[in-house]
Amino acid sequence: MLNDARSHGLWEKTAIAPPRTSCLTGRLVADVVIVGGGFTGLSAALHLAEAGRRVVVLEGREIGFGGSGRNVGLINAGMWVMPDDLPGELGEVHGERLLQLLGNGPQIVMSIVDKHGIECELERNGTLHCAVGKAGLKEITERARQWQKRGAPVELLDAAATAARIGTKAYAGSLLDRRAGTLQPLAYVRGLAHAALQAGAVLHTGSPVLSCAQEGTGWKVSTASGSVIAEWVIVATDAYSEGPWANVRREQVHLPYFNLATRPLSPQLRETILPGREGAWDTKEILSSFRMDRAGRLVFGSVGALRNTGTAIHVAWAKRALARLFPQLGSVEFEYEWYGKIGMTDNALPRFHRFGRNIVGFSGYNGRGIAPGTVFGQVLARHILGELEEADLPLPVTDARQQSLRGLRESYYEVGAQLAHFSGERF
Ligand SMILES: Cc1cc2nc3c(=O)[nH]c(=O)nc-3n(C[C@H](O)[C@H](O)[C@H](O)COP(=O)(O)OP(=O)(O)OC[C@H]3O[C@@H](n4cnc5c(N)ncnc54)[C@H](O)[C@@H]3O)c2cc1C
Repeated sequence: MLNDARSHGLWEKTAIAPPRTSCLTGRLVADVVIVGGGFTGLSAALHLAEAGRRVVVLEGREIGFGGSGRNVGLINAGMWVMPDDLPGELGEVHGERLLQLLGNGPQIVMSIVDKHGIECELERNGTLHCAVGKAGLKEITERARQWQKRGAPVELLDAAATAARIGTKAYAGSLLDRRAGTLQPLAYVRGLAHAALQAGAVLHTGSPVLSCAQEGTGWKVSTASGSVIAEWVIVATDAYSEGPWANVRREQVHLPYFNLATRPLSPQLRETILPGREGAWDTKEILSSFRMDRAGRLVFGSVGALRNTGTAIHVAWAKRALARLFPQLGSVEFEYEWYGKIGMTDNALPRFHRFGRNIVGFSGYNGRGIAPGTVFGQVLARHILGELEEADLPLPVTDARQQSLRGLRESYYEVGAQLAHFSGERF
């Protein structure tokens, strides 16, 4: 995107076209101005526009420029944090509310895709969290127990059942989550943009917000060439936050994550690797993820940035890892490579911020943003529509606080991933 082949890779080649948009000029008046054109901002825009509100979305670059257009495409239910730990972290009320909301998250994504006919390669066959060794098996067994006691349709598969679904004997077992699935993320976020426009929202790209100042009873949000006056502001800039809400970015440590896509595999190979089209990732600390796209390309990812020495190291490691995981592939060439930054918070949980009167936003999805971004966008819309009081939101209000040693930890992740992949860590 924007002349960078490593920003959105395969997804940019195969996504539906974005709507025609232009940059903001002049002065607009709206009920709500939304900053950021990813899942969160566009889901909020769609729901507000459907409820008849005047909405303007301002995106600094292109629709899906941030994490929304770059991710793996796993539509997960819940967060990384174990279900039973959430009430301890957030308090009983918010913990159970968040679990309930995010447990149903994939279903909400799928119903939006269906309702608006979004062509985004949606697969509803669940995800597989793959156990590496005894420690991995212990972790997924506990996770399965905690979800099952809440009635979630998750199932623990043994090594043989896992091998049959994935096409490798590398894993000690897996957790099949039937609520989850996969999609083409850039196509989904562009589909949300089309749907929001159709519902009456206004959307400007190439329009980075530079300032936000009080005007009358509302706010004036300004770009270099225009402004929007609105009662409410939604900040949906997450890990790619720039401008007035840079503190959103500062409360996160950025974890780089890359994806590599093979050429379309032969029909015979597709029968052996993820024939059911589940999305998959493993339990290692430096984890790997893999899934198929609609054309039968294997999309393989892990922690790391494809820049400087990182590109050659991560690509060489991925070839070795795939050869061990799926020897049936033979020698592998990658057609596309891309990467992005995942915003990690200090307790691996997202945040709700009120930046000023009627300026609100969710952020910090820790690599789980497709379903959470979509549902939090809806929640913001309902809050603004007066359907949900602040006390009824799934997260408490917190201040955006800078994480300590952020720069150091970000370098550690980037260099550490290179060292681990250079020394062949994992397989
Ligand atoms: C490589 C990678 C893999 C991932 N894999 C998965 C996965 O498999 N499953 C999953 O659920 N999640 C995954 N995630 C996480 C997920 O993509 C994010 O959590 C999600 O996209 C966040 O959505 P968002 O709309 O809140 O923010 P974003 O999509 O990041 O959008 C924020 C937007 O705000 C814009 N912006 C910033 N500042 C300004 C400004 N001042 N003015 C105007 N616009 C501005 C940016 O340009 C950007 O487009 C992954 C993320 C990455 C990077």
